[in-house]
Amino acid sequence: MIPPIANRFVAGETPPEALDHARRANEDGVKVILNLLGEHYRAREPADEDAAAYLRLIEDIAATDLDACVSVKPSQIGLDVGEDVFRRNYRDVVARGVDRGVFVWCDMEDHTTTDATLNAYEELAREFDGGVGVCVQANLRRTREDLDRLADVPGKVRLVKGAYDEPADIAYTRKEEVNEAYREDLEFAFERFDGGIAVGSHDPAMIDHAIALHEEHGTPFEIQMLMGVREDAQRELAARGYDVWQYAPYGGKWFSYFYRRVRERKENALFALRAVAGV
Ligand code: FAD
Repeated sequence: MIPPIANRFVAGETPPEALDHARRANEDGVKVILNLLGEHYRAREPADEDAAAYLRLIEDIAATDLDACVSVKPSQIGLDVGEDVFRRNYRDVVARGVDRGVFVWCDMEDHTTTDATLNAYEELAREFDGGVGVCVQANLRRTREDLDRLADVPGKVRLVKGAYDEPADIAYTRKEEVNEAYREDLEFAFERFDGGIAVGSHDPAMIDHAIALHEEHGTPFEIQMLMGVREDAQRELAARGYDVWQYAPYGGKWFSYFYRRVRERKENALFALRAVAGV
Protein backbone atom coordinates (compact mmCIF):
# COMPACT_ATOMS: atom_id res chain seq x y z
CA MET A 1 0.00 0.00 0.00
CA ILE A 2 1.17 3.53 -0.76
CA PRO A 3 1.93 5.45 2.45
CA PRO A 4 -0.25 8.53 3.00
CA ILE A 5 2.84 10.71 2.45
CA ALA A 6 3.03 9.64 -1.23
CA ASN A 7 -0.74 9.83 -1.81
CA ARG A 8 -0.42 13.47 -2.67
CA PHE A 9 1.48 12.71 -5.88
CA VAL A 10 0.44 9.15 -6.78
CA ALA A 11 -3.13 7.97 -7.43
CA GLY A 12 -2.76 4.52 -5.85
CA GLU A 13 -1.21 1.24 -6.87
CA THR A 14 -4.06 -0.33 -8.82
CA PRO A 15 -6.41 0.71 -11.66
CA PRO A 16 -9.47 0.81 -9.33
CA GLU A 17 -7.62 3.20 -7.00
CA ALA A 18 -6.54 5.34 -9.97
CA LEU A 19 -10.12 5.45 -11.26
CA ASP A 20 -11.39 6.41 -7.79
CA HIS A 21 -8.91 9.27 -7.82
CA ALA A 22 -10.11 10.30 -11.28
CA ARG A 23 -13.70 10.35 -10.04
CA ARG A 24 -12.80 12.62 -7.11
CA ALA A 25 -10.86 14.99 -9.39
CA ASN A 26 -13.75 15.02 -11.90
CA GLU A 27 -16.08 16.07 -9.07
CA ASP A 28 -13.91 19.20 -8.76
CA GLY A 29 -14.15 19.81 -12.50
CA VAL A 30 -10.62 18.51 -13.15
CA LYS A 31 -10.12 15.83 -15.82
CA VAL A 32 -7.45 13.18 -15.43
CA ILE A 33 -4.59 11.75 -17.50
CA LEU A 34 -3.60 8.37 -16.02
CA ASN A 35 -0.02 7.15 -16.33
CA LEU A 36 1.07 3.71 -15.19
CA LEU A 37 4.48 4.23 -13.57
CA GLY A 38 7.32 2.43 -15.34
CA GLU A 39 10.15 3.33 -17.71
CA HIS A 40 13.41 2.17 -19.31
CA TYR A 41 12.62 -1.49 -19.61
CA ARG A 42 15.48 -3.26 -21.33
CA ALA A 43 13.58 -6.51 -21.79
CA ARG A 44 10.59 -7.17 -23.99
CA GLU A 45 8.42 -8.81 -21.32
CA PRO A 46 7.78 -5.86 -18.97
CA ALA A 47 7.30 -3.55 -21.97
CA ASP A 48 4.63 -5.85 -23.39
CA GLU A 49 3.09 -6.26 -19.93
CA ASP A 50 2.73 -2.49 -19.46
CA ALA A 51 1.29 -2.11 -22.96
CA ALA A 52 -1.26 -4.80 -22.08
CA ALA A 53 -2.00 -2.98 -18.80
CA TYR A 54 -2.80 0.17 -20.82
CA LEU A 55 -5.20 -1.82 -23.01
CA ARG A 56 -7.02 -2.99 -19.88
CA LEU A 57 -6.97 0.53 -18.40
CA ILE A 58 -8.53 1.92 -21.59
CA GLU A 59 -11.29 -0.70 -21.30
CA ASP A 60 -11.80 0.25 -17.65
CA ILE A 61 -12.03 3.97 -18.48
CA ALA A 62 -14.38 3.31 -21.40
CA ALA A 63 -16.71 1.38 -19.09
CA THR A 64 -17.17 4.49 -16.92
CA ASP A 65 -18.44 8.00 -17.51
CA LEU A 66 -15.15 9.47 -16.30
CA ASP A 67 -13.34 12.35 -17.99
CA ALA A 68 -10.06 10.46 -18.16
CA CYS A 69 -7.43 9.46 -20.70
CA VAL A 70 -3.98 7.86 -20.61
CA SER A 71 -0.36 8.86 -21.19
CA VAL A 72 2.35 6.33 -22.07
CA LYS A 73 6.14 6.64 -21.97
CA PRO A 74 8.13 5.39 -25.00
CA SER A 75 10.72 3.52 -22.91
CA GLN A 76 7.91 1.94 -20.90
CA ILE A 77 6.42 0.25 -23.94
CA GLY A 78 9.64 -0.89 -25.56
CA LEU A 79 11.77 1.92 -27.02
CA ASP A 80 14.90 0.75 -25.15
CA VAL A 81 14.30 -2.77 -26.47
CA GLY A 82 13.85 -1.68 -30.07
CA GLU A 83 12.00 0.91 -32.13
CA ASP A 84 9.92 -1.87 -33.71
CA VAL A 85 8.76 -3.08 -30.27
CA PHE A 86 7.83 0.47 -29.23
CA ARG A 87 5.94 1.09 -32.47
CA ARG A 88 3.96 -2.14 -32.23
CA ASN A 89 2.95 -1.57 -28.59
CA TYR A 90 2.22 2.14 -29.17
CA ARG A 91 0.01 1.30 -32.15
CA ASP A 92 -1.90 -1.34 -30.15
CA VAL A 93 -2.59 1.15 -27.35
CA VAL A 94 -3.63 3.92 -29.76
CA ALA A 95 -5.85 1.60 -31.81
CA ARG A 96 -7.65 0.49 -28.63
CA GLY A 97 -7.93 4.09 -27.42
CA VAL A 98 -9.40 5.26 -30.72
CA ASP A 99 -11.79 2.30 -30.76
CA ARG A 100 -13.01 3.00 -27.20
CA GLY A 101 -12.94 6.80 -27.39
CA VAL A 102 -10.12 7.18 -24.86
CA PHE A 103 -7.44 9.73 -25.79
CA VAL A 104 -3.82 8.51 -25.73
CA TRP A 105 -0.96 10.90 -24.90
CA CYS A 106 2.72 10.06 -25.32
CA ASP A 107 5.25 11.58 -22.93
CA MET A 108 8.61 12.76 -24.25
CA GLU A 109 11.81 11.41 -22.73
CA ASP A 110 15.42 12.59 -23.27
CA HIS A 111 16.65 13.99 -26.60
CA THR A 112 17.94 10.64 -27.87
CA THR A 113 14.31 9.52 -28.15
CA THR A 114 12.78 12.58 -29.80
CA ASP A 115 12.96 11.43 -33.43
CA ALA A 116 11.67 7.93 -32.72
CA THR A 117 8.81 9.31 -30.63
CA LEU A 118 7.74 12.02 -33.06
CA ASN A 119 7.98 9.72 -36.09
CA ALA A 120 5.82 7.05 -34.45
CA TYR A 121 3.38 9.69 -33.20
CA GLU A 122 3.01 11.37 -36.59
CA GLU A 123 2.37 8.07 -38.33
CA LEU A 124 -0.35 7.10 -35.84
CA ALA A 125 -1.94 10.56 -35.78
CA ARG A 126 -2.27 10.41 -39.57
CA GLU A 127 -3.44 6.77 -39.62
CA PHE A 128 -6.16 7.34 -37.00
CA ASP A 129 -6.82 11.00 -37.87
CA GLY A 130 -6.35 12.23 -34.30
CA GLY A 131 -7.13 10.65 -30.93
CA VAL A 132 -3.47 10.95 -29.96
CA GLY A 133 -1.21 13.58 -28.49
CA VAL A 134 2.51 14.01 -27.97
CA CYS A 135 4.66 16.07 -25.63
CA VAL A 136 7.38 18.46 -26.86
CA GLN A 137 9.96 20.23 -24.71
CA ALA A 138 10.71 23.96 -24.98
CA ASN A 139 14.24 23.47 -23.64
CA LEU A 140 15.29 21.65 -26.83
CA ARG A 141 16.57 23.98 -29.55
CA ARG A 142 14.92 21.81 -32.22
CA THR A 143 11.42 22.26 -30.82
CA ARG A 144 10.37 25.24 -32.95
CA GLU A 145 11.03 23.18 -36.07
CA ASP A 146 9.20 20.22 -34.54
CA LEU A 147 6.20 22.45 -33.82
CA ASP A 148 6.26 23.62 -37.40
CA ARG A 149 6.16 19.99 -38.56
CA LEU A 150 3.41 19.05 -36.06
CA ALA A 151 1.12 21.99 -36.89
CA ASP A 152 -0.44 20.10 -39.81
CA VAL A 153 -0.63 16.71 -38.07
CA PRO A 154 -4.15 15.81 -36.87
CA GLY A 155 -3.23 15.19 -33.20
CA LYS A 156 -2.63 17.30 -30.10
CA VAL A 157 0.60 18.68 -28.69
CA ARG A 158 1.46 19.19 -25.02
CA LEU A 159 4.10 21.87 -24.56
CA VAL A 160 6.31 21.50 -21.45
CA LYS A 161 9.56 23.16 -20.41
CA GLY A 162 11.43 19.83 -20.35
CA ALA A 163 12.39 17.65 -17.41
CA TYR A 164 15.72 16.22 -18.63
CA ASP A 165 19.22 17.69 -18.24
CA GLU A 166 20.31 18.06 -21.83
CA PRO A 167 23.66 19.14 -23.33
CA ALA A 168 24.02 22.86 -24.09
CA ASP A 169 24.68 22.36 -27.81
CA ILE A 170 21.16 21.03 -28.32
CA ALA A 171 19.27 22.62 -25.43
CA TYR A 172 18.71 25.86 -23.56
CA THR A 173 20.12 25.26 -20.13
CA ARG A 174 19.46 28.55 -18.33
CA LYS A 175 16.02 28.94 -16.74
CA GLU A 176 15.42 32.36 -18.39
CA GLU A 177 16.24 30.95 -21.83
CA VAL A 178 13.85 28.05 -21.32
CA ASN A 179 11.11 30.41 -20.16
CA GLU A 180 11.64 32.63 -23.21
CA ALA A 181 11.55 29.62 -25.54
CA TYR A 182 8.38 28.39 -23.83
CA ARG A 183 6.66 31.75 -24.33
CA GLU A 184 7.67 31.89 -27.98
CA ASP A 185 6.58 28.30 -28.59
CA LEU A 186 3.21 29.10 -27.00
CA GLU A 187 2.84 32.11 -29.31
CA PHE A 188 3.65 29.95 -32.33
CA ALA A 189 1.24 27.21 -31.23
CA PHE A 190 -1.68 29.58 -30.57
CA GLU A 191 -1.16 31.08 -34.03
CA ARG A 192 -0.76 27.83 -35.94
CA PHE A 193 -2.47 24.97 -34.06
CA ASP A 194 -6.14 25.35 -35.02
CA GLY A 195 -7.01 22.11 -33.21
CA GLY A 196 -5.62 23.42 -29.94
CA ILE A 197 -2.65 23.11 -27.66
CA ALA A 198 -2.06 21.63 -24.21
CA VAL A 199 -0.16 23.87 -21.82
CA GLY A 200 1.76 21.50 -19.54
CA SER A 201 3.03 23.86 -16.87
CA HIS A 202 2.45 24.94 -13.28
CA ASP A 203 3.94 28.34 -14.01
CA PRO A 204 1.33 31.09 -13.36
CA ALA A 205 3.13 33.40 -15.83
CA MET A 206 2.88 30.84 -18.65
CA ILE A 207 -0.75 30.06 -17.87
CA ASP A 208 -1.62 33.79 -17.92
CA HIS A 209 0.25 34.10 -21.21
CA ALA A 210 -1.71 31.17 -22.66
CA ILE A 211 -5.01 32.70 -21.52
CA ALA A 212 -4.09 36.02 -23.17
CA LEU A 213 -3.10 34.21 -26.40
CA HIS A 214 -6.38 32.28 -26.35
CA GLU A 215 -8.28 35.55 -26.01
CA GLU A 216 -6.30 37.02 -28.91
CA HIS A 217 -6.47 34.06 -31.33
CA GLY A 218 -9.47 31.99 -30.15
CA THR A 219 -7.37 28.81 -30.37
CA PRO A 220 -8.73 26.12 -28.02
CA PHE A 221 -6.36 25.04 -25.25
CA GLU A 222 -6.16 22.91 -22.17
CA ILE A 223 -4.05 23.31 -19.04
CA GLN A 224 -2.24 20.25 -17.72
CA MET A 225 -0.63 19.98 -14.29
CA LEU A 226 0.69 17.15 -12.17
CA MET A 227 -1.26 15.54 -9.34
CA GLY A 228 -0.18 17.08 -6.04
CA VAL A 229 1.14 20.29 -7.59
CA ARG A 230 -0.91 23.52 -7.33
CA GLU A 231 -4.13 21.57 -6.96
CA ASP A 232 -5.93 24.66 -5.64
CA ALA A 233 -5.02 26.42 -8.90
CA GLN A 234 -6.23 23.40 -10.89
CA ARG A 235 -9.65 23.57 -9.21
CA GLU A 236 -9.82 27.34 -9.46
CA LEU A 237 -8.98 27.37 -13.20
CA ALA A 238 -11.56 24.63 -13.79
CA ALA A 239 -14.17 26.67 -11.87
CA ARG A 240 -13.37 29.62 -14.15
CA GLY A 241 -14.36 27.42 -17.11
CA TYR A 242 -10.92 26.40 -18.39
CA ASP A 243 -10.24 22.87 -19.56
CA VAL A 244 -7.96 21.48 -16.83
CA TRP A 245 -6.35 18.05 -16.92
CA GLN A 246 -4.37 16.53 -14.08
CA TYR A 247 -1.60 14.06 -14.90
CA ALA A 248 -1.95 11.36 -12.26
CA PRO A 249 0.57 8.49 -12.09
CA TYR A 250 -0.31 5.22 -10.40
CA GLY A 251 1.14 1.75 -9.97
CA GLY A 252 3.58 -0.26 -7.87
CA LYS A 253 6.67 1.63 -9.02
CA TRP A 254 5.73 4.80 -7.18
CA PHE A 255 8.77 5.34 -4.98
CA SER A 256 11.21 6.87 -7.48
CA TYR A 257 8.50 9.14 -8.90
CA PHE A 258 7.55 10.33 -5.42
CA TYR A 259 11.22 10.86 -4.53
CA ARG A 260 11.70 13.02 -7.69
CA ARG A 261 8.72 15.24 -6.77
CA VAL A 262 10.06 15.67 -3.23
CA ARG A 263 13.59 16.53 -4.40
CA GLU A 264 12.64 19.04 -7.07
CA ARG A 265 11.15 21.62 -4.73
CA LYS A 266 11.87 22.79 -1.19
CA GLU A 267 8.14 23.04 -0.36
CA ASN A 268 7.61 19.40 -1.32
CA ALA A 269 10.54 18.29 0.84
CA LEU A 270 9.10 20.25 3.78
CA PHE A 271 5.70 18.68 3.17
CA ALA A 272 7.31 15.21 3.25
CA LEU A 273 9.23 16.02 6.43
CA ARG A 274 6.10 17.36 8.13
CA ALA A 275 4.17 14.24 7.15
CA VAL A 276 6.90 11.98 8.55
CA ALA A 277 7.09 14.04 11.75
CA GLY A 278 3.30 14.13 12.01
CA VAL A 279 3.08 17.95 12.22
P1 FAD B 1 8.83 25.67 -13.25
O1 FAD B 1 9.66 26.36 -14.27
O2 FAD B 1 9.42 24.49 -12.55
O3 FAD B 1 8.37 26.72 -12.17
C1 FAD B 1 7.79 27.96 -12.57
C2 FAD B 1 6.81 28.42 -11.53
O4 FAD B 1 5.68 27.50 -11.47
C3 FAD B 1 7.34 28.46 -10.13
O5 FAD B 1 8.07 29.64 -9.88
C4 FAD B 1 6.06 28.36 -9.31
O6 FAD B 1 5.39 29.60 -9.31
C5 FAD B 1 5.23 27.38 -10.12
N1 FAD B 1 5.50 26.01 -9.65
C6 FAD B 1 6.22 25.07 -10.27
N2 FAD B 1 6.25 23.93 -9.55
C7 FAD B 1 5.54 24.16 -8.44
C8 FAD B 1 5.22 23.38 -7.29
N3 FAD B 1 5.65 22.12 -7.13
N4 FAD B 1 4.45 23.93 -6.33
C9 FAD B 1 4.00 25.20 -6.46
N5 FAD B 1 4.29 26.00 -7.52
C10 FAD B 1 5.04 25.48 -8.49
N6 FAD B 1 8.59 16.84 -19.01
C11 FAD B 1 9.17 16.11 -20.00
O7 FAD B 1 10.36 16.27 -20.27
N7 FAD B 1 8.42 15.19 -20.70
C12 FAD B 1 7.08 15.01 -20.48
O8 FAD B 1 6.46 14.19 -21.13
C13 FAD B 1 6.47 15.80 -19.48
N8 FAD B 1 5.14 15.70 -19.23
C14 FAD B 1 4.55 16.55 -18.34
C15 FAD B 1 3.16 16.53 -18.18
C16 FAD B 1 2.56 17.45 -17.36
C17 FAD B 1 1.07 17.45 -17.23
C18 FAD B 1 3.34 18.43 -16.67
C19 FAD B 1 2.71 19.46 -15.79
C20 FAD B 1 4.70 18.42 -16.78
C21 FAD B 1 5.33 17.50 -17.60
N9 FAD B 1 6.71 17.50 -17.76
C22 FAD B 1 7.28 16.71 -18.75
C23 FAD B 1 7.59 18.25 -16.82
C24 FAD B 1 7.98 19.62 -17.36
O9 FAD B 1 8.89 19.47 -18.42
C25 FAD B 1 8.64 20.49 -16.27
O10 FAD B 1 9.81 19.86 -15.84
C26 FAD B 1 7.77 20.75 -15.07
O11 FAD B 1 6.44 20.94 -15.39
C27 FAD B 1 8.28 22.00 -14.32
O12 FAD B 1 8.12 23.16 -15.11
P2 FAD B 1 6.90 24.20 -14.89
O13 FAD B 1 6.60 24.83 -16.20
O14 FAD B 1 5.75 23.46 -14.29
O15 FAD B 1 7.39 25.26 -13.85
